[in-house]
Amino acid sequence: MSSIGIFRSSGYVTENIVHIDLEQYNSHEVCSAFIVTSPKSYAILDCGTSNDVPTLLTYLTSKLKVSLKKIKYLIPTHYHFDHFGGGWALWNHIQDCNPDVKVLTTSKTKEQLQNPDLHMKQAYRTFGNMIGEMHPIPDKAYNIVSPNEEIFLPGLSDTHSLSLVPSPGHCEDHVCPTLFKDNRPEFMFVGESGGTTMHSEKLVTLGSSMPPEFHFKTYIKSLQNLIKSNPMNIGLGHFGAIKGLDNSLKLLNENLEFTTYFRKFVKERYEEKNETRWIVEQFLEHEIENRVEISKIDMKLLIRIIVALVYGQLIDLGYRNPK
Ligand SMILES: [Zn+2]
Repeated sequence: MSSIGIFRSSGYVTENIVHIDLEQYNSHEVCSAFIVTSPKSYAILDCGTSNDVPTLLTYLTSKLKVSLKKIKYLIPTHYHFDHFGGGWALWNHIQDCNPDVKVLTTSKTKEQLQNPDLHMKQAYRTFGNMIGEMHPIPDKAYNIVSPNEEIFLPGLSDTHSLSLVPSPGHCEDHVCPTLFKDNRPEFMFVGESGGTTMHSEKLVTLGSSMPPEFHFKTYIKSLQNLIKSNPMNIGLGHFGAIKGLDNSLKLLNENLEFTTYFRKFVKERYEEKNETRWIVEQFLEHEIENRVEISKIDMKLLIRIIVALVYGQLIDLGYRNPK
């Protein structure tokens, strides 16, 4: 872990929270899953694409020696293919030996998970066949909860509680699965509401303005709420965890500032030249070095991500149609 709290390896973040690098797209440090552990049970937070599920299962059973029978819940932050696209496959695998395992989520996320076709079509345009497969999950698999409702996880101490804090903006259904201790967020999995990070030494982000549902105003409002809740540690969908209150707040505030700045950047460039590619090139040329450790990431993947980030802003600005 770095001196400013950046935690990007797989392993225990806190006593009750484990981080897993899903090795998405066969790359390290792209997409994260987390596990809430108690002496009696486990909840898995996000699981990546269907291609990532074997990596997750291997880590669970070989590294952590988790008995699949003790997995109580699979909990998505939101329905997107890269975070819970493999939910159906993971549920299928676990329920063979543990028929009580549930996909615990809100009715909003369930609705999206049950109708993945349009989402997968859109995702395919940007990420091609890296997106895996997404299928509806049997109705009996679901345990539907409301945002902020307390979730019962066997074995969790009396001082701890678990719930889904709503954080729309990246998409409508986004929530932050949060472990509270004495009613304070001890660990908040902010998912994509905290932005995308690609740096191991600086608390910098790239936002998460992916199409088609990114909504700037809602996203900023959610970020402000997360900041107000003073999380002691946070987990990111992309990527890893940030340890410590000051570092967590710094990262969330940085994402707020960046997303605001990035919107202006996209708007100004668009007014110069109405061409997505060109705006992406401008960003890569002028901004990327401050925010990304270029040597660590596959350039093709980085470009795909920046295209998505620019495109989401263009849609929300009303310059493009969500297709
Ligand atoms: Zn997403």
